[in-house]
Amino acid sequence: MSLDVRHLENEIIDQYLYDENDRPWIIGFSGGKDSTMLLQVVWRALRKIEPILLKRRIYVVCNDTMVENPRMVKFIKGSLKRIQIAANEQQIPLTVHETMPKMDDSFWVRLIGLGYPAPNRFVRWCTERLKINPTTQFIKDKISEEGEAIILLGTRSAESGNRAKSIKKHEIKGQRLRKHQLPSAYVYAPIKDVTTNEVWQYLNQVPPPWGGTHKELVTLYRNANAGDCPLVIDETTPSCGNSRFGCWTCTVVNKDKSMEGLIDNGEEWMQPLSEIRDFLVETRDNQEKYRSRERRNGEIKEGVWGPLLFETRAEILRRILKAQKLIKESEGVELITHQEMVLIQYHWFRDCFFSTKVSDIYNEVFKTQMDMSRQEEKLKEEQDLLAASCKENPEDLQFIMDSLALQKTKTLLIRKRGLQADIENRLDQHLKSLKNPKS
Ligand code: SF4
Repeated sequence: MSLDVRHLENEIIDQYLYDENDRPWIIGFSGGKDSTMLLQVVWRALRKIEPILLKRRIYVVCNDTMVENPRMVKFIKGSLKRIQIAANEQQIPLTVHETMPKMDDSFWVRLIGLGYPAPNRFVRWCTERLKINPTTQFIKDKISEEGEAIILLGTRSAESGNRAKSIKKHEIKGQRLRKHQLPSAYVYAPIKDVTTNEVWQYLNQVPPPWGGTHKELVTLYRNANAGDCPLVIDETTPSCGNSRFGCWTCTVVNKDKSMEGLIDNGEEWMQPLSEIRDFLVETRDNQEKYRSRERRNGEIKEGVWGPLLFETRAEILRRILKAQKLIKESEGVELITHQEMVLIQYHWFRDCFFSTKVSDIYNEVFKTQMDMSRQEEKLKEEQDLLAASCKENPEDLQFIMDSLALQKTKTLLIRKRGLQADIENRLDQHLKSLKNPKS
């Protein structure tokens, strides 16, 4: 192997031992080749240190977007389990943590519940919600517990021109750490100068210290003709949509080559997923057919389209559940969770005028009687209560609903700039109409 692994390990030992404050290390682990190599090199370096000196805590953090490629999910979950067990056995001070988006930020809640059109290169509402925020929250929590933290990433200069520039820009001259945009956080990229070939050579020759081999990882890459989807921790990380082990729902890339590769190589059960992804692209691009002319604030503007129609959202949910029915038993894959369905129903209720229920669609597909009545009752109660308190002044109810819609519109646009002015305008109108009921 041309790669000088010993030098790499010594450098890591150096970094680990010579820190007076014993700042914790947070290792971003995506299960891909680069972060696997990173974790492995760090692990092997730590094993060369006297156990008594292993004082710094190491957190291995892996983010699950809830729409990860299901084949990759199975593989990563297995690896994470093995990593934790082996770390305990070998007395490596390392704990594994999985982060997830907030339920209300999940891909399906945003898309089906609120009608966000599937993301594209220009409106990429997903990365921040699904990837950056959950990991950032984890890092912030650790910083507030421990004062500072060092984030170890498997980023490599050889990977892309942009990433090389980004690594250079943030590097602190003469040091191995670079500043992270979060206060009190630093980034350390130990394998930044390792080439792609060297990564593969290393993984082929050195078995993982947490047991097993890298055969499955290598096969996955081979079958998927895939690139890597790194752990995304800030905007400087290139679009995860460009790398190919991203979300199976990713409509930012023209084609999901990894999913197509896996299907071609025997994972035919993923075919319905590929069809759903294509349907998401269609619903985004064929605005006439699938999107509302009216924006959530009631505004209609030439060339500007509103959220996905309710019928479109119901159809997407129906297709997901049909696919889930097909593959859940054989593959144990869950495409949408019960909690997400409850939240979707919540948003449909808040939008008032959608009569189809999530449970109707679920029962239609699964031929069951799923009971969401408790949640539904709660939501209905909330609305009835609001209506009852506005009984004397029904225009107040309308005002409250409009304000909620405005708030949602701004959220849909990601930025909340102007929200206060919009609500104030709406309040002015409301007050004027109270003074002059006929206007
Ligand atoms: S992989 Fe695609 S869908 Fe997933 S967060 Fe990245 S850009 Fe969005």
